[in-house]
Order: sequence, then structure tokens, then C-alpha cells
Amino acid sequence: MTRLFNIAVIGAGIAGLSCASALQAAGHTVQVFDKSRRAGGRMSTRRNAQEGWQCDHGAQYFTARDPAFVAEVARWQQAGVAALWAPRIAVLNDPSSSPRQPGPIDRFVGTPRMTAPAQWLAASLNVSLGLTIQRLHRAGPHWQLACAEQGLLDTRFDAVLLALPAPQAQPLAAAVAPALAAVAASAHMRGCWALMLQFGGPVDLPFDAAFVNSGPLRWIARDNSKPGRNSASETWLLHAEAEWSEAHLELPAGEAAALMLAAFAALGGPVPQVWTAHRWRHADTRQPLLDGCLWDAGLRLGLSGDWLNGGKVEGAWLSGQRLAAQVLT
Ligand code: FAD
Repeated sequence: MTRLFNIAVIGAGIAGLSCASALQAAGHTVQVFDKSRRAGGRMSTRRNAQEGWQCDHGAQYFTARDPAFVAEVARWQQAGVAALWAPRIAVLNDPSSSPRQPGPIDRFVGTPRMTAPAQWLAASLNVSLGLTIQRLHRAGPHWQLACAEQGLLDTRFDAVLLALPAPQAQPLAAAVAPALAAVAASAHMRGCWALMLQFGGPVDLPFDAAFVNSGPLRWIARDNSKPGRNSASETWLLHAEAEWSEAHLELPAGEAAALMLAAFAALGGPVPQVWTAHRWRHADTRQPLLDGCLWDAGLRLGLSGDWLNGGKVEGAWLSGQRLAAQVLT
């Protein structure tokens, strides 16, 4: 590509930010849009700054295996927005009843919260928050975006890149690129109930995090055991198991919370002072695709995201890089 492009990236999760950073570094003009108030997507933290309370309620940690992502995480560490987390991890209720220990692997978290790497990337980019893109409009060789808050935006783009969960990318692509929309429709993303618990003092459990292999819960973690957190603020996070979450996704939050708290109590967890529930509608993909990304060079329309690249934070970041590489060729 010889001339410089004006590119829209929809989605300021880690995939969109990774893609936008690579394209901007190559000299293109990039504008990132997100419907939320903050960048980060599912690398997310609930906060109450006044109470000095916070809890990561989406991605819990990330691993780095691909050399490019290893180098990126090193950059984040150098910038002080990520660090190693070495929790005492247990495996609970394993039906095989043979103790299974998670293998030795480096687990990283954002510091001082999971949103930090995304916000660090976003700080170097042109990011428009609070805009929900509802329609892609073809204007001759260009694209325009229509959003819920401001209608049709004036800016014309040479390319549009959707860095969204599959169920959110699918309706946007459907009217303009049915083939891409069909791939998105084939990805089955699942919900997840998250429950954040605040305690008045330390919780007496012999681990900082645990994989739970039966009942409604899948993962529990002492959020304040992560680096850079306020260690005096005892906060735990419970994630429900995917099938259980799917079956109970439409329950009122109080009913889902009661079931999850009962499961936590059965593991020895005490009753919290305060709980906060969050319902993730598109948390993970049952069988993530391995395409890396999708790019229609004729339309100059692309898709990226974790669901296209094995799931998880690393896959999402790499998917963004791969889509940028496609655009650049
Ligand atoms: P997202 O982070 O979902 O970003 C998409 C962005 O698009 C969002 O910011 C959203 O607001 C925006 N958006 C959506 N629709 C529109 C629209 N119409 N207009 C504008 N903006 C829009 N991964 C791990 O590696 N380790 C873990 O331990 C882990 N645990 C997880 C636990 C839970 C409960 C969840 C939910 C996820 C977990 N993940 C984990 C997965 C990880 O969070 C994701 O793989 C990764 O963050 C996905 O990034 P993404 O950029 O592809 O998508």
C-alpha cells in the first residue's frame, strides 16, 4: 500500500487497540470507536475510587507464548502497566479426585488494574468513547459510520475494521459483507456471571485463586493478591462456569448471586459484606476459530478479536496485529 489511509477501528478492546497501534505506527490515520466510557473491553475492572475499592471482573490474567506478544508484555511491564502475578493456586472439586496442579506458567495482570495495558495503548491513539456504531454506510469508495448517539458521522474512511465480539460484529457486517457476517455467525460465544465480593478483613482460605471443577463456579480469586492492588481491601471475584452461566443468564442478579454465594460457602468462603454482580453476555467462545482475522481487500473491511484467534487476551492482541498486517499488504 503506497498511499496513507484513513482507517476506522470499531472496538477499543485489546484486539482493536493492537490493530490501531500497528496501523498508526505504519503512518496511517486511525480513529478508534467504542461504545463504553473506557477502553479495555473485557480486560475490565469495576472501581469505586471513593471507597478505594476495585475488582477485575473480566479477564483475570493473561499468558504470553508468541514471541511478539512476549515482547509486547515486556513493553507493558517496562511502562508499569503489567506485572507477573504468582498466586497460590488450588484446584477444587476435581471429579477425578486426583490432585491436579496447574502447570508452571507465567501469569500476568494489568497494574494497578486489568484495564491498564489497554488504557496505556489508548493514550497514544485517537479514541472516541461513548459511540455505539450501529451501521456501516458505503459512500462510493469510502465508508461512513452511523452511531446511536450522533447518527451518521461526517468522516469518510478508506477502511473499517471491526474488533468486536462475534455477535456484535455480525449485524454490522451482515448488510455489507454477508460472507464475513456468516463467519461471525458461526462463532458461538457464551455468557458468564461474575460476582465481586467485599469483606471487612482477610478471608481465611489457603489459596489466592482456584480453578473449581464442579458446581456453578469455575474460578475464584482474591483480587487484592494481584500486584499493585490495595492489599488491605479484601476483595474476591467469582466466575460462574460457562454452561451454568448460559442456563442462568436471564436470572435476576440477586438470584444468580445467591446461587454463586452458596457455592462459595460450600468451598469454605465466608459471607461478604457487599456483593456486586456483572452479567457478561459474550465472555468466551465455545470453539474459537483459528483464522487469526478476516480481511476483504475489495471492500476494505476487516474483522479481528479473540473469537477469531483461539480466545483469550493473547489471541486477541495477535488477531489485531494480523489484521493490521493484512491491511498493510
Ligand atoms: P473485547 O475486549 O470484547 O473488545 C470489544 C470492544 O468493542 C469493547 O470495548 C466493546 O465495548 C466494544 N463494542 C462492542 N460493540 C460495539 C459497537 N457496536 N460500537 C462500538 N463499540 C463496540 N482471557 C485471558 O487471557 N485470561 C483470562 O483469565 C480471561 N478470563 C476471562 C473472564 C471473563 C469473565 C471474560 C468476559 C473474559 C475473559 N478472558 C480471559 C477473555 C479476554 O478478556 C478476551 O479474550 C479479550 O479481552 C478480548 O479482547 P477483544 O478486543 O477481542 O474484545
